[in-house]
Amino acid sequence: MSTLRFQMVGEAFKKKPLMATAPSERPCEYFGKNVFNREKMYKYLPKDVYEQMIDVMENHTQLDRSVADAVAAGMMQWARENGVTHYTHWFQPLTEGTAEKHDSFIEHDGKGGMIEEFSGKLLVQQEPDASSFPSGGIRSTFEARGYSAWDPTSPVFIIDDTLIIPTVFISYSGESLDYKAPLLRALKAVSAAATDVCRYFDPEVTKVTSNLGWEQEYFLVDEGLYAARPDLLMTGRTLMGHDSAKNQQMDDHYFGSIPERVAAFMRDLEIQALELGIPCKTRHNEVAPNQFEVAPIFEDTNLAVDHNMLLMSLMKRVARKHGFRALLHEKPFAGINGSGKHNNWSLSTDTGVLLHAPGKTPEQNLRFAVFIVETLMGVWRHNGLLKASIMSATNAHRLGANEAPPAIISSFLGTQLSDLLDHIERADKDDLFQLDGKQGLKLDIPQIPELFIDNTDRNRTSPFAFTGNRFEFRAVGSEANCASAMITLNTAVAEALVSFKQRVDKRIAEVAGDYEHSEHSATFHAIIDVLREDIRRCRPIRFDGNGYSEEWKAEAAERGLDVETSCPVIFERYLDEDSIAMFEQMGVMTRKELEARNEVKWETYTKKIQIEARVLGDISMNHIIPVATDYQSRLLQNVENMRAVFPTEKADELSARNLKLIEEIAMRTASIESQVEELVAARKVANRIVDEHEKAIVYHDSIAPYFDTIRRQIDKLELIVDDALWPLPKYRELLFLR
Ligand code: ADP
Ligand code: MG
Repeated sequence: MSTLRFQMVGEAFKKKPLMATAPSERPCEYFGKNVFNREKMYKYLPKDVYEQMIDVMENHTQLDRSVADAVAAGMMQWARENGVTHYTHWFQPLTEGTAEKHDSFIEHDGKGGMIEEFSGKLLVQQEPDASSFPSGGIRSTFEARGYSAWDPTSPVFIIDDTLIIPTVFISYSGESLDYKAPLLRALKAVSAAATDVCRYFDPEVTKVTSNLGWEQEYFLVDEGLYAARPDLLMTGRTLMGHDSAKNQQMDDHYFGSIPERVAAFMRDLEIQALELGIPCKTRHNEVAPNQFEVAPIFEDTNLAVDHNMLLMSLMKRVARKHGFRALLHEKPFAGINGSGKHNNWSLSTDTGVLLHAPGKTPEQNLRFAVFIVETLMGVWRHNGLLKASIMSATNAHRLGANEAPPAIISSFLGTQLSDLLDHIERADKDDLFQLDGKQGLKLDIPQIPELFIDNTDRNRTSPFAFTGNRFEFRAVGSEANCASAMITLNTAVAEALVSFKQRVDKRIAEVAGDYEHSEHSATFHAIIDVLREDIRRCRPIRFDGNGYSEEWKAEAAERGLDVETSCPVIFERYLDEDSIAMFEQMGVMTRKELEARNEVKWETYTKKIQIEARVLGDISMNHIIPVATDYQSRLLQNVENMRAVFPTEKADELSARNLKLIEEIAMRTASIESQVEELVAARKVANRIVDEHEKAIVYHDSIAPYFDTIRRQIDKLELIVDDALWPLPKYRELLFLR
């Protein structure tokens, strides 16, 4: 590595590590310390109020407004004992990240003094001035009335001096303006639909929960170097930078030992996360240099989404304390892996995970097959929409670009599960399903071996892979709110399960006569019929091959899967009649909400590309061209000096390389300059377009392509220009923490 031309902040941290000693407390002692969890509810709430809260949290019953005051009083007492002075309603607007507005507890006491107060009313509902959050036109700015309402299923917590209350954010007319409201509706829909289907197998089942275990990838860069990169600072990614001679080709970073400074950061992050009730479990290096991952134990999807939002903001804070910047962008560096957020998803009943194989009885194996196949049905029917749910201007650099995962949603099941489904589909029905005199029912479904849950049978190129007891939705972006993917996935599975139930019930009625003496058998007979039909129908979504290959793109198109790669066009899937019908029928979102949300998506896309275009133009003209020209002048001076000493012919012969470089710099700077001019002109044209959809498409088609072509010239200049003059930290400096 050459000498570092920029000051690394981290050097200071190396001399004085922040986490010199491990805390004496054990994780189980401080887990949830800053959360108003059950334990604290029990301590701070009257018994009847506590019981009502548990009922609300477990069974999603309505919170009685009359108990809200008692809950608020208990919360306030706990908060005050922990030095809290403020509270905030915390919500997830349609922009990235979270929003909050802090109020203090103080109120006039009517006698000239102040008292601290927190009522049930303040806990339950607030009306923040919401005019500057995107609403896609649902709430025109002059009325500016949106309100936030407490989500009692996600516990309140403390950060610094503030009590934080997770809320949904809704317009005055009832439309959702956030991610949480539709997520809660999607979870309700999938729970109801899955419970109904579970009852075929076990009438005792009362509740199905959707689980999410996310794995968050991120990069760390030194804060000092970050500050010297205007592109990272303003867009979250490097818009230029030649490959480092060494990057990830040695595969020596993945699972390698964690650098000391990074380990200290991770420990600090995990302690704070655990105190906030986020059950962090796994940490490791990722494939690319400076890339890492953190993953908690899976939780109920709503809570897991909140915890991921919280962890992302916590990570940014803690990183700065350690002299780092955490990069959550999906593709901060070209040429090396980007970051994703694997969403491990499953459904479970009070008795266990529904996607867990092998079962003990044939019925359990059949139930397993039903939930696998109906998940696939949802993913198959809405594969384009699922892709839309994870698409963004930033994730577009991973999907369909030159990196994993492809912009085609397919599902990897592995040989054993594929064989099982093939067997159910093709076996002679009488062989598969027999009435056995003694046992009542015999299902010839092969035992699924234990090996099944093993990690060996993995396909890393699949965007939606079955991994033993869950599906792993890998295409989610590292910066995204997981809720977007989870809303669509859970709604699609809910719809599939509802349709499955309707068809099975109809079939039961048809075959009932054949099984007069055993209602049970009629049910299983009907289930197998419908299951076989669905295995056949959703076959196009199953793909165990290499998802990165060119052949797959052609084959996927033939199979009728969505192969579109343009981000703004992919968003259109939200407004397909099929999608609208699904969201409306499952009670998750209305047409009006979907239309409004798409306006926000297109607008956000345009703004991101617009900012990148401006930053690229500025850096090109203010940093790169002046420095390249300066270096070129030095070369010219050298050529002239040579001519002063040697005869011209001899001088030019000796200056051959410099003359070539002078010409190359001239050509490359001229190309940058003219492309930046074209880029500005293209932006002017695009900005005149009023329709957000159309504007986003123009930004995608005629502005974004300049990023690569301008960058190519800059990256070549980086190789030519004197290292000491180059104005930006290079990849080799950014990517190898010392
Ligand atoms: P990987 O090998 O995929 O990197 P990790 O252990 O890093 O696995 O993370 C797997 C994630 O999946 C964790 O959050 C884990 O709790 C979660 N997980 C495990 N089982 C399930 C399940 N049945 N449903 C949802 N998530 C699960
Ligand atoms: Mg994983």
